[in-house]
Amino acid sequence: MADIMDEARQTLSRYFGYEAFRHGQDRLVQAILSGRDALGVMPTGAGKSICYQVPALMLPGITFVVSPLVSLMGDQVRALKATGARPSFLNSSLSPAQQNTVLKRAREGWYQIMYVAPERLLEPRFLAFAQAAAAPDGIGVPLVAVDEAHCISQWGQDFRPSYLEIAQFVDALPTRPTIAAFTATATERVRADIVAALGLRKPETVVTGFDRANLFFGVEEMGDKAKTVWIRDYALAHADESGIVYCSTRKAVDELYLKLAHALEPQGVHVVRYHAGMSNADRTESQVAFINDTASVIVATNAFGMGIDKPNVRYVIHNNVPESIEAYYQEAGRAGRDGDPASCYLLWNGNDFRLRRYLIDREYDGDEFMTEAREFARQNRYRLLGAMEGYCQTTGCLHEYILRYFGDEGALGTDVSAVQGTTADGSPAGCGACSNCTTPYETEDVTSIARAAIEFVRDTGGRFGRAIVADALHGANNEKIRGYRLDEVTGYGVLAGEKTAHIKDVIGQLIGRGYLVQSQGQYPVVGLGPHAVEALADSSEQPFSFTMKRRAAQARTKTRVQRAVDRVRSQIEAEQDLASAPARPHVGDDAELFERSDKALRGMCRRRPLTRDELLEVPGIGEKKADDFGDAFLAEIQRFEDEQL
Ligand code: ADP
Repeated sequence: MADIMDEARQTLSRYFGYEAFRHGQDRLVQAILSGRDALGVMPTGAGKSICYQVPALMLPGITFVVSPLVSLMGDQVRALKATGARPSFLNSSLSPAQQNTVLKRAREGWYQIMYVAPERLLEPRFLAFAQAAAAPDGIGVPLVAVDEAHCISQWGQDFRPSYLEIAQFVDALPTRPTIAAFTATATERVRADIVAALGLRKPETVVTGFDRANLFFGVEEMGDKAKTVWIRDYALAHADESGIVYCSTRKAVDELYLKLAHALEPQGVHVVRYHAGMSNADRTESQVAFINDTASVIVATNAFGMGIDKPNVRYVIHNNVPESIEAYYQEAGRAGRDGDPASCYLLWNGNDFRLRRYLIDREYDGDEFMTEAREFARQNRYRLLGAMEGYCQTTGCLHEYILRYFGDEGALGTDVSAVQGTTADGSPAGCGACSNCTTPYETEDVTSIARAAIEFVRDTGGRFGRAIVADALHGANNEKIRGYRLDEVTGYGVLAGEKTAHIKDVIGQLIGRGYLVQSQGQYPVVGLGPHAVEALADSSEQPFSFTMKRRAAQARTKTRVQRAVDRVRSQIEAEQDLASAPARPHVGDDAELFERSDKALRGMCRRRPLTRDELLEVPGIGEKKADDFGDAFLAEIQRFEDEQL
């Protein structure tokens, strides 16, 4: 075996100029060379291609590589040709005459490797060629490599029915080749599907490379306008760096692009945009400018990035929430390919999830032929989005969350409590490279709030949204409360000592952990969840208790102040037009500046008064200020609170 691997290393060095296999590549290459099936799960850029290319160059006969990425086949073949290998591809971009030539040369045994689209496999002419090649007296088919193998699974997001034909194709060959499957995006479930649907036999399975230690992951919740300001300031503070800003829709790209270009171009930061609605020429121009570092920032939909290998992208900011962790990691993973430190920020708020749900429903609703399979697919999309929601809301290590999601070997040996905990002095422990591990958290016992909320939802029949439930428990006296006569319900005002926002946070956590559920749709109401019985059955043998982690007081205040400042500033700037407002090249120091400049405003941000009386309790606010500005501020605070739902 050592001999084979020596030979493999020589092949690696001779064709590709690399001295050693990366972690995991060696095991996969060794398995394939010894005739064993293999499953390689590695993120994009980790080096999956080498795993089948090296064996293909060593084994006699022709290796088929099944790939859905027709547009990239040409590039791959060109790159391989440049190494001195003899590759080819067969897809619909070739004319019939060219296809004839390729097949003729293949029959003569000229090629070592052939990329084919999955639709091609069962086409009579191709199948006949493959059968002849795999016959005992044929040129030989030692290996079928399946790229993007998750396309075979209905659990993933890129299901392609044509992938199901791969197993039929293999069955139709007179001798069974070794089969190796590769994917960047497989969860446990998808992986099981790949093994079953491709009929892999005891595959050597390697899941590795997902940890990108040089990447800092950050998650920040903020309003839509604050996002724009945040991104602008970040791009200014990193003006000499290259960054991608992803938005979920073309419209969002166009809008954000205009605002950023207005604000950044005068400061010498060139911004371009990219989405599928633009002409080919315009897209190419944007892409070239970004790749050549003429433009530092590209605002794009997920149409940008496939097949682009720009090593020095220093940050990837998501202005919206992607549809799944897979999609997020693939896009964010375009940062720091050169191994130097880079940052990935996800900015989110409730609107992002509403939009995602709307997009999912729009795709499936109104389809009178809604089959079981389609309903299944819809539920699956919701499940993938749910994991994304978990990522936004977790207080644990973000690196760890991702590694566990993918089932990376690197994560399994890690002691999670060590990663997620805090050290004795209260400072955060953990990876030190994500916003959760660098933010101090404290655990708070909120059992009484949780119990009161669950009981209130039970008593009122689950008819109200989170804000109203929180208001009623707090004992607010407003029109809605009176209109629904909630002031007559037992639970009214039992949490008078708690802030409404805090009660709302607890309700959110109860939803997240299944004690309560929130309906879908535009006006979601909160009902009892599957675990509600446990809380309601609260007994001396099994007392109900509920704790939650939250940012430690200091950090929390700072974040709130920061958000409020962002909001106020973006409001003003939206009115003045972002371009004419002086853009300042800084990020994160707003809170300090703000603290020095206005005590009263800070008091309001911290206390979040909702009534005139509460407002008057804020230091620095007298009758006069309350009269002059009170209404505007109260309305703004209320809007802000509502947006946090
Ligand atoms: P994937 O298919 O997983 O997206 P690629 O096969 O395209 O990744 O490889 C990503 C990059 O890493 C390529 O530039 C490739 O040449 C390089 N690479 C792969 N294996 C090695 C290795 N063993 N040593 C050095 N570079 C490698």
